[in-house]
Amino acid sequence: MQKVSQIIYARWVIPVIPKNTVFENYALIIEGDTIIDLLPQDQAKEKYHAKTVEHFNNHALMPGMINAHTHLAMSYFRGLADDLPLESWLNEYIWPAESATLSPQMVFEGTTHALAECIRSGVTTANDHYFFPESVIKAVDQAGTRAVIANCIFNFPLPWINNTHSYFAHTKETISTVASHPRIYPAIGPHAPYTVDDTTMEEVHKLVDLHKLPMHIHMHESKAEVETYQTAHGKSALEHFYNKGWLNQYTIAVHMTQLSQNELDIVEETKLSVVHCPESNMKLSSGAFPWKALADKNINIALGTDGAASNNDLDMFGEMKSASFLAKLQFGADALKAHQVLEMATINGAKALHIDHLVGSLEKGKKADFIVIDLDQPETQPVYNPIAQIAYAASRSQVTDVWCDGKKLLCNYNLTTIDLGAVTHNQKHWAEKVVDSVKQKNV
Ligand SMILES: [Zn+2]
Repeated sequence: MQKVSQIIYARWVIPVIPKNTVFENYALIIEGDTIIDLLPQDQAKEKYHAKTVEHFNNHALMPGMINAHTHLAMSYFRGLADDLPLESWLNEYIWPAESATLSPQMVFEGTTHALAECIRSGVTTANDHYFFPESVIKAVDQAGTRAVIANCIFNFPLPWINNTHSYFAHTKETISTVASHPRIYPAIGPHAPYTVDDTTMEEVHKLVDLHKLPMHIHMHESKAEVETYQTAHGKSALEHFYNKGWLNQYTIAVHMTQLSQNELDIVEETKLSVVHCPESNMKLSSGAFPWKALADKNINIALGTDGAASNNDLDMFGEMKSASFLAKLQFGADALKAHQVLEMATINGAKALHIDHLVGSLEKGKKADFIVIDLDQPETQPVYNPIAQIAYAASRSQVTDVWCDGKKLLCNYNLTTIDLGAVTHNQKHWAEKVVDSVKQKNV
């Protein structure tokens, strides 16, 4: 008998790799922070013993989900301004509220708040794109989740960033701070083609090239944005970036609702990853995602919620259902199948973030990031196909337990690393400041 750290027995195990597979009555074997085996329960009982043994007899066990595009601290702007198009939502509400409230403390508390939601929703990795990365690092470190953190870069100062050099100073500091962190990885985060000029992008590209890090950018989000860029530059942002040599396998292009045939060819040639944020795109009426054209070219498509201000939640279960049903509405009932959308929420996100050697599937040697979902509820009974139940019927409230790096972050619905009372207390303080900022604007 081999002694190991943890043995987790589950009725159904969905490893994601191999694809579209459900193992029934299997056990996941953990040593420290690593998955060392996945095998039938009777074999596990003969081969392994552990101090920590857990049984989930009516549950599905699957990899922790990867939210491939979000702005965690923007949870404090959830529900602040709804039912508006992207440009007025951003210019008239979000940016004024950010100007009035953004600070290292606000980002730390807002990120912690969002991570409580992530963990309770079965998300173990977030690809965050925001400001004050030192605060995001601190929040993720304390919450025990995994994250890729990009400091948002613009080519002009903002009320909370006095000069453009600060963007790069924060970015370089993030790269060195998390260099040996076991769960946090840096990325370079130019905001969007319309907020970064060529000089800024050259500097971004140098950093991507030097450190071989992901470049996380909003790209071709709305029709209006694409048309404005085309009129000003005589070509699209994607074409311009391609001509400059700024697109490659490290590029994480978020939204991509508008793509011509030439742009689809660019995506294919450069091997960039695309992040689909269906609910944000629907809410801001940004456009319909060309899933079929990208899938036909075997482009890596990950899934993200975007910030809670434009969604209005960080629920990857909702995102899976929306992505799949939207694709079916556009392309037919056989489009974006349940197992494919589950891959978008797990392994494809890991590929986009260049951490698929670590997470995204339940394979020997990968990190022990996984979740357990109680399917023994009226909402998900009967269980003919656990993958379809998870993609189309289950809600995040059925996530009972969550592990990241071998440690439990949610235990029988209870957070182990975040104090919910403090989260509730802190948000009230910041919400008052946000309300004041909106009142002042309307005076
Ligand atoms: Zn975004």
